[in-house]
Amino acid sequence: MAKEGHKYIFVLGGVMSGVGKGVVASSMGLLLQQKGYPVNLVKIDPYLNVDAGTMNPTEHGEVFVLRSGLETDQDMGNYERFLDRDLTNEDYMTSGMVYQSVIERERALQYGGKCVEAIPHVRDEILKRIEAAASYNGGRVSVVEVGGTIGDFQNALFIEAARVMKMKYPDDVLFVMVSYLPVPGTLGEMKTKPTQSAVRALNSYGIQPDFIVARSTHSIDEKRKEKLAIQCNVRADRIIAAPDIKSIYEVPLNLDKDHLGDELLEALHLPKKHATSLIEWKKFVISATNTKAPEVNIAIVGKYFDTGDFILSDAYLSVIEAIKFSAAKLGRRPKITWVNAKEIERGGGKAAAALGKYDGIIVPGGFGETGIEGKIKAIQYAREKKIPYFGLCYGMQLMVIEYARNVLKLKNAHTTEIQKNSEDPVVDIMLEQKKHLAGNKYGGTMRLGAYPCYLKKGTMARAVYKKEMVDERHRHRYEINPKYIKPLEDAGLVFSGTSPDSVLMEIAELPRSVHPFMLGTQFHPEFQARPLAPHPLFTEFLKSAIARKKKK
Ligand code: GLN
Repeated sequence: MAKEGHKYIFVLGGVMSGVGKGVVASSMGLLLQQKGYPVNLVKIDPYLNVDAGTMNPTEHGEVFVLRSGLETDQDMGNYERFLDRDLTNEDYMTSGMVYQSVIERERALQYGGKCVEAIPHVRDEILKRIEAAASYNGGRVSVVEVGGTIGDFQNALFIEAARVMKMKYPDDVLFVMVSYLPVPGTLGEMKTKPTQSAVRALNSYGIQPDFIVARSTHSIDEKRKEKLAIQCNVRADRIIAAPDIKSIYEVPLNLDKDHLGDELLEALHLPKKHATSLIEWKKFVISATNTKAPEVNIAIVGKYFDTGDFILSDAYLSVIEAIKFSAAKLGRRPKITWVNAKEIERGGGKAAAALGKYDGIIVPGGFGETGIEGKIKAIQYAREKKIPYFGLCYGMQLMVIEYARNVLKLKNAHTTEIQKNSEDPVVDIMLEQKKHLAGNKYGGTMRLGAYPCYLKKGTMARAVYKKEMVDERHRHRYEINPKYIKPLEDAGLVFSGTSPDSVLMEIAELPRSVHPFMLGTQFHPEFQARPLAPHPLFTEFLKSAIARKKKK
């Protein structure tokens, strides 16, 4: 059931994809929150995958893991970062999820012998989920982003559900169309026609947009605002300029300049309250976009490098953002270089030595064999040359394998992910994971979501977090093999973070007396880094990187 008077803003995309609907939705969330109205951000992904966990990050970007363990689209990461709040399962849906519920219900004879159809049954399942998010999360306004573009076949049922919401709650539903206005080079002038056509397409669904967010290389001028207003039946003051800018975190500030927050309140019939200041956010944006700040050079050694830079940075989105937040806090400008692990593999010691020019090295999460020996070489180089190293999930497992091979002298140490019958399986499949793999049950079966981690006294991790217990998010099937813990510790590796029952090794590190910063986490700290609350491990890693730069 919907909550009485709850407000809904549907964000729909016009003309083309990739124009930043998610950032606009997040920014509206931040603005409304700042104006005193708690917000739920809900993402609808029209694909048939039940969750984002089975998708290749080079094609779909990073898989973002919620606290609950649900594997979602990278937009959910942006939502959490803008709202500075954890989202829940209710805030995310895919066509796959929706259809799965309907089909399960049909199999359980819960439709009372009726013919089960897209309209009304699938549509009503969508409505139920949108309303469930509203009542579950205690917000006052739900901003619901419908993935894809108006006119797509895949998202039509979701748009139809949005239309029905407006029928049910005429005073409580708004439509915001985020559209693209091209400025063709040959003309040098902004064109409104594609957006006019997109509005007409939306009208054919029975929906009239209340706002148009005009995404373009430039700010839309008054003349074109007027033109769009007349042609599209949208008030000129509700056509909002959204030109390209340096940082996505500037977007809410920019939209605020066009009074989007206040306009939304008016359109939703919500009274103005005392707004909290955006000053902290502004300070962060100023620091994050300061082109004069001294650089800190970080190499990310990974494998998803085959489809060009654009996609690449999406595959590691939260890692990049986490670096940015900590760098902004430290007044530095991060320069990230993508180093292809396959090339280090091919180039051997010489290629690894080229890493000496960086201030810090990260090996992020990953799966499979590609580039693995290159990553291990990079880690060895970082350890031996005392270059700050931060390993995230796979990056922690490989750090332990490197230590076992080169310090413990277990030359064949490996992970059973790659070598099933490894002589020294230092990283091994978790017991409960074996049955999932045996049954080909890949979707949603890893160790997922937040788990508590106990931090040992006297370690770097404990000193950095300044806490005894932390909660961090996971996404993995393999773990440090308990058989090797004692020998590894005897050889100098410190397991500074463990599950509360001491069974699972969550953080491995070298003492600071041996190395300035050599630490790996079995979890993904990047998922909990926020603009105004950078992650302490990323901050400490960058501090060490800056100290190295100074020494050089
Ligand atoms: N492939 C490793 C595992 O499944 C690491 C996963 C990751 O880096 N997210 O355990």
